Parts: sequence; C-alpha cells; structure tokens
Amino acid sequence: STTPLALQVENATVRYGLVPAVTDVSLVLAKGQITTIIGANGAGKSTLLNAITGVLNLEGKASLFGQPLDKYPVEERVGKGLVLIPERRELFSSMTVEENLLLGGYTQRGRSASTIEGIYADFPRLKERRKQGAGTLSGGERQMLAMGRALMSHPKVLLLDEPSLGLAPLIVREILNIVVRLKEAGVSILLVEQNARAALKIADTAYVMENGRFILEGTGAEVSANPRIEAIYMGGH
Ligand code: ATP
Repeated sequence: STTPLALQVENATVRYGLVPAVTDVSLVLAKGQITTIIGANGAGKSTLLNAITGVLNLEGKASLFGQPLDKYPVEERVGKGLVLIPERRELFSSMTVEENLLLGGYTQRGRSASTIEGIYADFPRLKERRKQGAGTLSGGERQMLAMGRALMSHPKVLLLDEPSLGLAPLIVREILNIVVRLKEAGVSILLVEQNARAALKIADTAYVMENGRFILEGTGAEVSANPRIEAIYMGGH
C-alpha cells in the first residue's frame, strides 16, 4: 500500500477575474519530503500557494493527507497543519522578536514556553534578539523570524514562498539548511523558489513553472541535470 501524500494538487487552475494565472497544474508532496516549484518572476508560483491555502479560489482538486482541502475553510487550514510563510515575510515591525513569535502560536499549546524554547533552540539568533524590535532585523533574521513564527503553530505541511529572496548567498545556505532540518524533523515542505540551483539541491521532487503551467518535472537531480533547465535557470551563476 502507498503512504498518503502530505499534499496533492490535481488539475488546478487559478484565475484573477477571468484571466488564468495558473493553468491545469498537478503536483505531489510526499510525507516528510521537499517538493520545489521553480520558475521566473510572474510564472504563477505565489498564486498557486495562495490557492492551496484557500485565499484564492482553486478550480480542480487539492488534498491534505488524503482529505479534500475544500472541506476546510481558510481559517481552519492552519489548524490542520497547513501553514504558509509568505514571500514578503510580513512581521509586526514595532513588536519584539518574541512578541512576533507568540502571535504565531495558533493554539494554547503553540503559545507554550516549551514551544518557544524549541524555536530558540533551532534559531539561536532569534533568542539573542528576543527583546529587539522586529523592524531592526536583517533580511536573513527576518526570514528566520517568519519561519520561527510559522513553526509556533506546529505545521505538518509548510508552504515556503521564496525564502531566499534578497538574501546573500551565505544566508541563503543557512536558511535552506534550516529547511532541510525541518524536513528531517518530519515536516513536509513545498518550497517555491526563483533560486533554482539552491532549491533543486535539496528537493526530492521538482516542478518547473512557466506562464502558469508546469513544463517539466522530476526528481531534484533529474531537473537540475536537464540541459534546458541548466541553460535557462542556472546559466552564469
Ligand atoms: P513572483 O515571484 O514575482 O511573485 P510568481 O511566480 O509567484 O512570481 P505570481 O505572483 O503568482 O507569480 O503571478 C502570476 C501572474 O498573476 C502574473 O502575471 C501576475 O501579474 C498575475 N497576478 C498576481 N497577482 C494578481 C492580482 N492580485 N490580480 C491580477 N493579476 C495578478
């Protein structure tokens, strides 16, 4: 028998008004693995994530651990373990690091001291800066805080929208190492990235998105070895 997939999307289309931004895409995310979607600016990656969380309407099918997602309204999906870390890393700038973390605790259990200590163990930098205003953090620290805040709600499936955006290569590596540690801790991860090389290195399964469609899929290794991908996404880096 087969293990249920953490997340499955089948023939999904997402429109803004009448205009489709995502057309007929299907993807799988196996339990405890990393699936990545790579593609250029405007390909439709964020749109797809927002349809999976339910903020945008998804035409087609999506399921979480075998359960159809449309059973759950947007506000219930976090409780089911589905958590998005958006690209812009919206934080409450005037609040401290710790206050931002506490806001991520979706349940009483999530807000417990042991949860917050667990986050500090994963992100020692956040612990050092717990009393500091979130608005004063560096780009990498903001991404860590956005990740830490999401982890406060004990996600089972994490949707990560371009965590490497605007970060220096060394920090990108640090962030992606954290993503791998989360996978090792049992979280299933859907990682959206423009930084193809970095994402493919850690992905079990990969999809390449162009103009709202998947034009190629395979294992991370297969996709990065594809000469077409090499030329388009990784040339000159
Ligand atoms: P980026 O990394 O730049 O966010 P992306 O791959 O995530 O790129 P999307 O943001 O999903 O791409 O955008 C896909 C397409 O949908 C683009 O053509 C974009 O202009 C369009 N789009 C995005 N948001 C809206 C919106 N609110 N209304 C209308 N069109 C939109």
